Amino acid sequence: MSDTVLDRWTAVRDAVARAARDVERDPATVTLIAVSKTYGEAEIEPVIHAGQRQFGENRVQEAKGKWPALRARHPDVILHLIGPLQSNKAADAVALFDCIHTVDRPKIAHALAEEMRRQARHLPVFVQVNTGAEPQKAGVLPADADSFIPLCRETLGLRVEGLMCIPPVEDPPSAHFALLSQIAKRHGLKALSMGMSGDFAAAIQMGATHVRIGSAIFGARS
Ligand SMILES: *Cc1c(COP(=O)(O)O)cnc(C)c1O
Repeated sequence: MSDTVLDRWTAVRDAVARAARDVERDPATVTLIAVSKTYGEAEIEPVIHAGQRQFGENRVQEAKGKWPALRARHPDVILHLIGPLQSNKAADAVALFDCIHTVDRPKIAHALAEEMRRQARHLPVFVQVNTGAEPQKAGVLPADADSFIPLCRETLGLRVEGLMCIPPVEDPPSAHFALLSQIAKRHGLKALSMGMSGDFAAAIQMGATHVRIGSAIFGARS
């Protein structure tokens, strides 16, 4: 039975490695990002002590409240922004995070490029693709990705490492993972940020290099 955060983290870490080996991938090619949104230091600290180093947060403001103290004690933690970003938060985001998964429109791409220059912090980023073309969801539309990716890389000089998606809840995820992988391949991008608590094994099967897992580690969010 896994009923503590640590038990669940261990089980998830092992399941991620197993999913990689199942498709003959080296588990070291899959980065587990523990998504700690809504959880505080009491839950996060034991996971850091157990060896987890990559964490994800979806709100700049929330991360600003809890991570500076945690990072002062654990300077080797890597923090990923996985939630939507507004341009008025770009400065805070660039200062606090190590990687941004949610670059999805020209305005935010410009704001990030400008801040990275100003702060001399050239963070790796992912372009978020709205693979299901859902009106309420963030992400560049698949049809616009082919022009947006070169804008980010060539025009703005952003360090685009790969692509990120969140499949529609009602769809089987694999077609979305495959689409993301296809777009990445067209642009020679190696990293794929895809897969959450419910679908990380499928994502790893389709080539995920970064899985973002929250509730399977920390428990259901209220
Ligand atoms: C919350 C969140 C996750 C983690 O979701 P779980 O289902 O709790 O694993 C992954 N990605 C993004 C963008 C999120 O906002």
